[in-house]
Amino acid sequence: MRICTVSVDLDEIPNYFAIYGLPSPTGPERSLVYDVAIDRLSDLARELGIPLTLFVIGSDLARPEAAGKILAASRAGFEIANHTLDHRYDLVRLGRAEIRRQVEEGARAIEAATGTAPVGFRAPGYTITDEVFDVLDELDVSYDSSVFPCPAYYGAKTAAIAFISLRGRTSRSIVDSPAVLAAPTRAYAVGRPYWRKGRGAVVELPVQVTPGLRLPFIGTYVTLWGPAVGRRLARACVGEPIVTLELHGIDVLDAADGLEALRPHQPDVRVPRERKLQALRGAIDELRRGGYRFVTSAEAALAFSPE
Ligand SMILES: [Zn+2]
Repeated sequence: MRICTVSVDLDEIPNYFAIYGLPSPTGPERSLVYDVAIDRLSDLARELGIPLTLFVIGSDLARPEAAGKILAASRAGFEIANHTLDHRYDLVRLGRAEIRRQVEEGARAIEAATGTAPVGFRAPGYTITDEVFDVLDELDVSYDSSVFPCPAYYGAKTAAIAFISLRGRTSRSIVDSPAVLAAPTRAYAVGRPYWRKGRGAVVELPVQVTPGLRLPFIGTYVTLWGPAVGRRLARACVGEPIVTLELHGIDVLDAADGLEALRPHQPDVRVPRERKLQALRGAIDELRRGGYRFVTSAEAALAFSPE
């Protein structure tokens, strides 16, 4: 089996300001992901002939323009999945009742916009716990795609949060338990603790790392490191039965779109969007050459069967 699923977290721009402890933006850049990035991503998906899975923050759909974009994407054959109601980076610390509300209301907002209840979930900031999995189980969620067993990313995120605090600001982002680094790198039925294989009903589609070195194969790094490295990361994943390529809306935006304020903080914002798109095309091309079939994340989770 060689299948690949490309998913996009539609984290709207104020989330990035929150990561760096910056005041929330007030201009039109507030909604660049829904107003600009979704169209670019749809064009890319059409050009490449692949379906996308969009992970949506429910509260963003209160804006009719955003709800309209998601309905159109759903009608175009994209899967719409749940990225919680409010994208609280500290979701895992909110307690069972609020975690449940964040998952349930996120799903409800998607169903209200598209007419279809989502079957997949991704936690904000790749941070998840057994308590969140219990909630997913209760709510009959078919698959999760939050586990990111990547030592390089874990180290970089922890260092970034420390650096932001040294500069006198407070990041909304939180440090995950290093236990996640022990999780399987291939799809698995979730056990307990969640980073072990088990017999749970929820299938985990881990965020992709390369076999061996476990380098991050996600849009942030493919676009930052450029087309040649993007192709090499993709080639390293060829042979894995299921490859997940996780992007963010901001992966197809750049400083010139109105993100100058993020330029000092976020290196990938400095990369011109054409080069970013080229890097994403190259990575997907390598997987296609490697014999991969592109499906939605729900289809990938269904194709998974425990050995
Ligand atoms: Zn997110």
